[in-house]
Formats: sequence, structure tokens, C-alpha cells
Amino acid sequence: MNQEKNLEMIRKNILEIEQEKAVIARRTGRDPSEILLCAVTKTHPAEEINAAIRAGVTDIGENRVQEILEKYEKVDKVNWHLIGHLQTNKVKYVIDKVCMIHSVDSMRLAAEIDRRAAQHGLAMDILIEVNAAGDEAKFGVSPEETETLITDILSQCGHVRIRGLMTIAPFAEDPEEVRPYFRTMKELYDRFGKIDHPNLDFRYLSMGMSNDWIIAAEEGATLIRVGTAIFGARH
Ligand SMILES: *Cc1c(COP(=O)(O)O)cnc(C)c1O
Repeated sequence: MNQEKNLEMIRKNILEIEQEKAVIARRTGRDPSEILLCAVTKTHPAEEINAAIRAGVTDIGENRVQEILEKYEKVDKVNWHLIGHLQTNKVKYVIDKVCMIHSVDSMRLAAEIDRRAAQHGLAMDILIEVNAAGDEAKFGVSPEETETLITDILSQCGHVRIRGLMTIAPFAEDPEEVRPYFRTMKELYDRFGKIDHPNLDFRYLSMGMSNDWIIAAEEGATLIRVGTAIFGARH
């Protein structure tokens, strides 16, 4: 495919997703703006990302620190989200670049984010990654461990704000199969969102990828992370 056509396809995919998302939002009694599209740009070059931004994308997600650093200067102004597993020794490279870290699943990581955020005089927005399916191969805390992690972070970290929860559902040919995990996540989100603390302000339930975002949005996702359905297969 030539590059012109490729960029045109990216624009078209974004418009289609935005339209479908608006339909689901209204059907679930929400305003379309209450479901944020985070375009997942891993492996895709700055030119394609900038085409997405010109088509209206305001938020992009990367899962590797190295890739954020490589692309950061080449990409137009946008909100960067770190959505992949983060090693504590790499927090320092992204603390002043990303608007939110979706993958916090240990006190150790939260404490390092807190320490680096304090050094920069900022408060970092984070999500707690929950392994809703109990998938051995995945990161994230179990639903049972979630409350303890939240209360530990709130009592020990003054420079992080817990903005919600994130999950990665197992891949399923038929996305209906993962609906129960999204339901579990919504229940946890509603429950922990009631915790009264100045550093807890739930706004994001981050769930749903190219193959299952429609189901996730139906079940209450407020942020969907979509890569392949926008940019095509990863290189
Ligand atoms: C790659 C990735 C996505 C997007 O996956 P697609 O299937 O390409 O939409 C979403 N979330 C995370 C954490 C990812 O690593």
C-alpha cells in the first residue's frame, strides 16, 4: 500500500471507531466524550501517528519506554499513555513525558513513580492493572489484591493520583467470551471509586482492544486502547 493510501485508511478507521463508539455511549446512557479513544501506536512510525492526531486523536498509548523516547520529539503534541508493563528502573525516563501510567501492579512500582514524581514536583496519574481473568502469563494484581494495593498506595504515596483501573482481557476468537471479565472490572471500578481520599479520583476504566473494545465499552469502559483496528497489523 502506498503511504498516501495508508494515511487515508488510518483517518477512515478513526472516524469509523469514533462513530461506533458514539452509538455505544448513547446506548449506555453516556455522552460520547465519556469514552476516550486511546490510539495504540506501538511499532508505528511518527508519520502515521501524526496522521492520527490530525484526524482527531488526542491520546496515544505505547507499551515500551524505549519507543516513547525514540518517537517523543517526532510526534505532534498529544497525551502519551504508558500502557505496558513498566520496570522500576525505567520510571525516570517517562515520568515527565506521559500523562498516565496504566500498568501499576505493585507497591514497589508505585513507590518509584511517587519518588520520581516528587523530584519533578508533579503528581502522576496512574491506573491499577488488574488481572481479571487470573491469567498466569499476564501482569496485574488479582481482583482480591486490588483493594490492599490501593489503600497501601494511598497511605504511602503523596505524588500519585489513582484515576481508575485497567485490564487486558485474554484473547478470544469470540469476544463475547471475555464479557464476564469486563463486568468484574466494572464492579471493582464502582466499588473502589467510592473510596474517599484526596489522591483517588476515578475517571478511567481502561479496557478493550481492537478485537473486544465494543464489548468493553458496552460493559462500561471509559477508555479503550485500540491499535490494529486503526493502524493495521503491527510491523
Ligand atoms: C498492543 C496493546 C493494545 C492494542 O492492541 P490491538 O489489538 O492492536 O488493538 C492495547 N493495550 C495494550 C496494553 C497493548 O499492549
